[in-house]
Amino acid sequence: MPGFPKRQFYSFVTTLFYFFTFFRRREGILVLLYHRVTDQLSPHELAIPVAAFRRQMEYLAKNCDVLSMDDLLQVLSGRDASVTVGSSGRPKVVITFDDGYRDNYTNAYPVLKELGLPATIFLITGMIGTDKKRPRYQHMPSPDMLSWSAVKEMAGNGVTFGSHTRNHPHLGVLPALEQKNEIEQGVAVLGSWLKPGEAPPIFCYPYGDYNRQTLSILEGLGIRAAFTVESGINDTKVNPLELRRIGMDGRDSLFDLRKKLAGACDILHA
Ligand SMILES: [Zn+2]
Repeated sequence: MPGFPKRQFYSFVTTLFYFFTFFRRREGILVLLYHRVTDQLSPHELAIPVAAFRRQMEYLAKNCDVLSMDDLLQVLSGRDASVTVGSSGRPKVVITFDDGYRDNYTNAYPVLKELGLPATIFLITGMIGTDKKRPRYQHMPSPDMLSWSAVKEMAGNGVTFGSHTRNHPHLGVLPALEQKNEIEQGVAVLGSWLKPGEAPPIFCYPYGDYNRQTLSILEGLGIRAAFTVESGINDTKVNPLELRRIGMDGRDSLFDLRKKLAGACDILHA
């Protein structure tokens, strides 16, 4: 479709789908995926401005049931559909962040705390507390990733932590032993800094990339929930090691958020 902006086309189609979602009853839990919350980058698919993030969190606090990771784990262990449906008809939402950027502490955490919203951050443990930067953020001020003291402070105040491997590799292309080391070390480092309740056995695939070996390694390590970048809702049929998430784009309006909560964007991703 030459000359027609992709994002506008996407917006048009998802708006059409949105009106159809009014006739569809959805059961399950939605897991939102954020990365950076910052005004130092122009908004893009991985970075949302601070004011826009606040508006989204205020919308969620008012219109959704925001669940903690512990709530989600309880639902998964019981696989009780009634918990996910509820009587209010309000969307059930879990808030997650990937990688462990410092702006999650300076910009997102104050908003989450003020509104009393639980959230989960998946850490690239080999980057936390270092001056290392992700390749696309080499120009950002140092340090760009969370410190362990910030992690510990948030852990005592409504934020749960999970492992996102040690070095953020594409697991699907790694030999089994290297995969196991990446996953095992990430989990072990978290366990050495945090109490068990602050870092439950949860995992998140870098780039959403994994294979059958990855799943059996996670099973062997007793991981109870693992998160992909596959779009969609988590009903009782979804494998707990292949949970879906809704990617939040920094350019999303509040209407885009409503469309995503209604499932209007899942069809395009599928
Ligand atoms: Zn990542």
